[in-house]
Amino acid sequence: MGFLDFLKGRRPAAAPIPDELWDWAIAEHRIFRGLDEGERGRLRELAAGFLAAKRFEAVDGAEIDDRLKVSVAAQACLPLLGLDLSWYGQFTTIFITKDAYSVTQRWEDEAGVTHESEEEFAGEAFELGPVALSIPDIDASGWGDGYNVVIHEMAHKLDGLDGAYDGCPPLGRGPHRDPQHRLDRRRWAEVFGAAYEDLRAKLDAEGRTKRRRGTSKRRARIDPYAAESPDEFFAVVCEYFWERPALLKDEYPEVYAQLAAFFRQDPAARQSL
Ligand SMILES: [Zn+2]
Repeated sequence: MGFLDFLKGRRPAAAPIPDELWDWAIAEHRIFRGLDEGERGRLRELAAGFLAAKRFEAVDGAEIDDRLKVSVAAQACLPLLGLDLSWYGQFTTIFITKDAYSVTQRWEDEAGVTHESEEEFAGEAFELGPVALSIPDIDASGWGDGYNVVIHEMAHKLDGLDGAYDGCPPLGRGPHRDPQHRLDRRRWAEVFGAAYEDLRAKLDAEGRTKRRRGTSKRRARIDPYAAESPDEFFAVVCEYFWERPALLKDEYPEVYAQLAAFFRQDPAARQSL
């Protein structure tokens, strides 16, 4: 960056993503098919800026090539089409692992006894630092089937931007400061809280009804992982918002509407995935 640019507060221009690589990314990920020309151009710019700002680090000999990087960058930036890259300003490193990795979790119960459990994580958003993603899960993302580890981890980053991982990202930031685009925190909590409880109830009912060849009427259509906690619910419905927008809109229309207002996008209107 030149000194003049520095004085003017300009960022160095990100290197553009080569045509061949970009065309591959668009063709390979079904979730980009509904984007119009303008949206694709904006996504390409955001992804180039993302690649310029973030560092990819391989763990355990994972092989990182340009396709993998562009795949992550483009999917990570899809949620930012109506926002900007400052929403991902709090992290710079993305760890890439060869396999889904194990994390040992320890916690203390009320009686003071320490428990340990080994869990497989597809990816993990560390509280304040880097993001970790595994290659098999990146490859499994973007097909329009509801699963997207990149969007999931980015949603956690957005959620935690206000310091609390509670399923509610900051609602008064950037374009949302404008009274026209203002979102109400209480309304958000109501809508997400009701949907979360509904999903938990459906999963409970499924557990019960399975034994008596349950009615399909109350079946949950969202990944049960969303019922883990309000922050996981937010991350999972974000996956559906771009992977299966019509399904999410049908299942939880008010959640869909809140996400559409927050992200300033309407993926269900683009195409039926
Ligand atoms: Zn998660």
